[in-house]
Amino acid sequence: MNGTLIESELFRRVTYLHPLEELRVPEKFPIALVAWMLMMFTFHFLCGTLEICDQKKWLVQFRRKPAGDRKTYKEMMPRILINQIFLMLPCMIIAEKLGLCYQSKQVLISVPSLVYNFLVMGIGHDVIFYVGHRYLLHSRWGYKLFGHDVHHSTSANCALSAFYMANVDFCFEILLPYLIPMWLMGPESCVAFSLLAPSIGAVGGLYEHSGYEFFPNLSIASTKAHFMHHNLGFVSFADGFGSPGLMDWTFGTTYEHYQKKNTTPVENGEKSD
Ligand SMILES: [Zn+2]
Ligand SMILES: [Zn+2]
Repeated sequence: MNGTLIESELFRRVTYLHPLEELRVPEKFPIALVAWMLMMFTFHFLCGTLEICDQKKWLVQFRRKPAGDRKTYKEMMPRILINQIFLMLPCMIIAEKLGLCYQSKQVLISVPSLVYNFLVMGIGHDVIFYVGHRYLLHSRWGYKLFGHDVHHSTSANCALSAFYMANVDFCFEILLPYLIPMWLMGPESCVAFSLLAPSIGAVGGLYEHSGYEFFPNLSIASTKAHFMHHNLGFVSFADGFGSPGLMDWTFGTTYEHYQKKNTTPVENGEKSD
């Protein structure tokens, strides 16, 4: 064992690093671009797959109500691509170039640091999303001004509608709740988390807008909250599936709170659970 190897082994033992935590990507590796490409593949592959299931009438036993939203897949696609290509991609690349996000070149981090990453993203996303969604987008003056009515012109019954938003709305609901926690993590993040976070977020978003409920007995994985948000408009302001929903519980705006106060909620044709 030569001197460098001994020093490396010594450093690892002193700092309790796992050998994988020393893996790094090259300095010029375009983390933002690769993360965006992974998100695009995940989003469009899953939305396309669920659309085929809708067309073929597969998995109907898991649907909340019959397939079909107020807008067709084809009608929604241009706006979705504009949001993803002309807003999301440039914002992610600018955040990287300015040194705000994606700065760690370490591929993996320790389990406690990874837990910290998920906590910062989970809580940060929940707070930013909720405040913007409830107090700006659903305010009397902001609903049309920021174009939130565009997203609410869908009924959360088609996965693709997750990103069917006006540009400003897309910034409030998708970009800021994702990029600000990424910025807060700073060098505590790692490449694996940076690459996978947008895809994981996309899966949650498209699933809660899909009209499917694959885990009816698992409340933590339910799509009902956001479905009810679209259909009632004044409950469940959190991001639904995948979000801890802490703000909704803190401020008493979950669908469950509403349900307790009203014995016969209107569910717009939803199947009773
Ligand atoms: Zn809304
Ligand atoms: Zn929605």
